Amino acid sequence: MRALTVTPGVADSAQVEEIADPSPSDGAVLVRTLALGVCGTDREIVSGHYGWAPRGERRLVIGHESLGRVEEAPAGCGFKAGDFVVGIVRRPDPVPCPACAVGEWDMCQNGRYTERGIKERNGFGSEFFRIEPNFLVKVEPSLGVAGVLLEPTSVVAKAWDHTERIGHRSRSWRPRTLLVTGAGPVGLLAALMGAQRDLDVHVLDHRDSLLKRKLCESLGATYHAESLENLNGFMPDILMECTGAAPVVRDVLGRTAASGIVCLVGVTAPGHDFEIDVGALNRTMVLDNNTVFGSVNANRMHYEMAGEALVRADRAWLNELITRREPVEQWTRSLERQPDDIKVIIDFADTQ
Ligand code: BGC
Repeated sequence: MRALTVTPGVADSAQVEEIADPSPSDGAVLVRTLALGVCGTDREIVSGHYGWAPRGERRLVIGHESLGRVEEAPAGCGFKAGDFVVGIVRRPDPVPCPACAVGEWDMCQNGRYTERGIKERNGFGSEFFRIEPNFLVKVEPSLGVAGVLLEPTSVVAKAWDHTERIGHRSRSWRPRTLLVTGAGPVGLLAALMGAQRDLDVHVLDHRDSLLKRKLCESLGATYHAESLENLNGFMPDILMECTGAAPVVRDVLGRTAASGIVCLVGVTAPGHDFEIDVGALNRTMVLDNNTVFGSVNANRMHYEMAGEALVRADRAWLNELITRREPVEQWTRSLERQPDDIKVIIDFADTQ
C-alpha cells in the first residue's frame, strides 16, 4: 500500500513509498484512510526538526489528523465495517506514570508516551491503518470530510476543559470575554468553542484575510488584523494563544483581566530571548490571581467533547476551514504554506 513517509531528523526526506500492509500488532480494527489533515507539527517533522521513527526503523509514516472508514472489526469491539472514525494520536507510556495509568496520557509525566505519526509509532498516512478499538473514535457521518477536524478540535477541547477547571477554582468565576491569538485552524476552532459558550469572542491575526474575517463574523466574533497593542487596552477573561509565535507569547503574558487565564496552545521553537519586566509581570499575576498555563494533546474525553462541538457547529462553516485538498501523489504540496490556507488536507479517497 502507498504511505507518506519521512526520515525524522533529515530535512526534505518526505516521499510516497510502497510499504507492507498494516500489521495486526497495530490493532484489531482495519481502517481505510479517507483524508489526512496537515498541521505545523507535520511541517516541523518534514523539515527535520521534530519526530521520531519507530524503534529500530529509519522511516516514519507521517500523519496524525485522520479520517477513515472501518473495513474490518472484530465482533463486539464497538465498531463495524462502514463506521466513520478518527484515530487517537497518543499512547500511554509503558511504566505507566500515574496520569497514563488513569487514561490521561495527554498529561504524561515521564515523557515516554508515543504518538502515531509523530513519536515512535507509524501514523495514519497510508491507504489503510490498523488500530486498537480503545484508541478509535466514531465520527458523525454527516460531518463528511470535516470529520478530519476532530483531532485538532480535541486539542482545543482539552484547552477549554483545563481552562474551565482552572477558572472554577473560584466559585464566582463567570468569564465573559475571550481573545484568541492566531486565526489558523486551532485558533478558529478555539473561537468556535468560545462562541458555543456564549462568550464575547475576539480573534487577533497578524494579517487581514477576508475569509478569516468572514468566518469569525459568522460566529458572532470580532476579527482584529493588528497587534495586541492596538486593542485599546482590551483585557479578556480568557486568552488562548494559538500562534506559537514567540513575540506574541511574550505579549500575551499578563494581558488578561483579574482572575484571567492565558492558555498557551501554540508550540514555539527554542531560541527566542526577550527582555521582560519580570517584576511587573509577577506583580500583576499575583495581585490579580492570574494564570498562565500550557496545554497539549488530548485524551478520549476530549475527542468526545470535540465530536460534540463539531456536531453543534454549522457544517458550511466547518467546510470553509478546509481551504485546500491535495492528492496523495502531491502530498508535499500540502506542506507549503499558501496565503489563503487555513486547513490543508490530503485526499486518500473520494470524499465530499
Ligand atoms: C498534535 C498533538 C501532539 C503534539 C505534540 C500536535 O500537533 O496534535 O496530538 O501531542 O503535536 O507532539
